Amino acid sequence: MANYKAIAEEICTILGKTYTERVGLHEPHFAGNELKYVSDCVETGWVSSVGSYVDRISEDLSKFCKSPYAIPVANGTVALQIALEELGVESDDEVLIPSLTFVATANAVLYLKAIPHFVDSDVESLGVNCGKLAEYLENIAEIRGNECWNTKTKRRIKAIVPVHVFGHPVDMDPLLEIAKRFHLGVVEDAAEAIGSEYKGKPAGTIAPLGTLSFNGNKVITTGGGGAILAADKAQGEHIKHVANTAKIQHAWEFRHTEKGYNFRMPNLNAALGCAQLEILPKALEMKRKLQAAYCDWFSNFEDGEIFTEASYAKSNYWLNAMILKEESFELRDAILDSTNAKQIGTRPLWVLMHRLDFLSKYPKMNLSTAESLEKRIVNLPSSWFLVDKFGL
Ligand SMILES: *Cc1c(COP(=O)(O)O)cnc(C)c1O
Repeated sequence: MANYKAIAEEICTILGKTYTERVGLHEPHFAGNELKYVSDCVETGWVSSVGSYVDRISEDLSKFCKSPYAIPVANGTVALQIALEELGVESDDEVLIPSLTFVATANAVLYLKAIPHFVDSDVESLGVNCGKLAEYLENIAEIRGNECWNTKTKRRIKAIVPVHVFGHPVDMDPLLEIAKRFHLGVVEDAAEAIGSEYKGKPAGTIAPLGTLSFNGNKVITTGGGGAILAADKAQGEHIKHVANTAKIQHAWEFRHTEKGYNFRMPNLNAALGCAQLEILPKALEMKRKLQAAYCDWFSNFEDGEIFTEASYAKSNYWLNAMILKEESFELRDAILDSTNAKQIGTRPLWVLMHRLDFLSKYPKMNLSTAESLEKRIVNLPSSWFLVDKFGL
């Protein structure tokens, strides 16, 4: 491991043999009825907040994710906001979220004037480290009635948001047990995890509430969009109501029952999504092939390995990740520099939430694993159509 530059060059060679043009980290791919369905919206004039594709994407998602309720919304961030609000998160409540996540998870908490409280991750799932979390809560939390209170900050800890990072499912059984023991509501942030499974169950449906994103960089896209998955009828219907300005269905009267949001997914976006959902099974198959190819290409690489799903999980492999060994962390920037210089779109992990200036004041546990992972992860190009380009 003496010569970092040489090793970075070797990685470029491994990737470069397959990449002949610029490749992004994750690009959308339209291979089905996208144009047909979107044109249909324009031709019929149904482009906005109501239309047949909005109803259809809701049904199709519900079927695909085996979730009784699937409510399409404007994006994955507001999906989280509305799900947390449904759980009863109020201003000044603490919400446990991993520091290792995309900033949207923290923003959704802030929109409710609640307090993000950062928890550590583990190396097997890249998600919440349940062992460490249980020990931490035993030290700082006190149960009063059926509420959990932080004895240090004197605030209520209301909920936890496990994030399925890069599509890899969190170990949900121990997490749900902790949630039950400490009376915490749970929203799964499955923004990156459509099609992933935990012990055979679709990600986003293991807890009573889960959220998805259909942003352009996710496995499938609606341009911008998201959804809430709900198991419970009352919750599902209430979320749909609130996301749709809390208007009572009526032939001509406009009556609203409470503070509602305009978080609807427009029909135009839903049309794109319906077509993308049709090809999702194929996309998932291709993504697994790509991950297997990465494992193969890097099988002799001594300084790190390609992340592979845990035994309980089936991952959608949204983003492939090279995890460098602890002693090889200095390689990260050399790899990022040389690959990007060759038009290979690699990138590091997000800067951890607790290290962002505007979030640094919020409570956190010891975050040693997340901090170690931050130094050692390089995401590799993961668009599913690369499988065709590589002739895999
Ligand atoms: C993409 C993403 C979101 C937010 O989704 P948007 O549709 O971009 O608002 C939330 N959480 C995670 C982990 C994400 O990756």
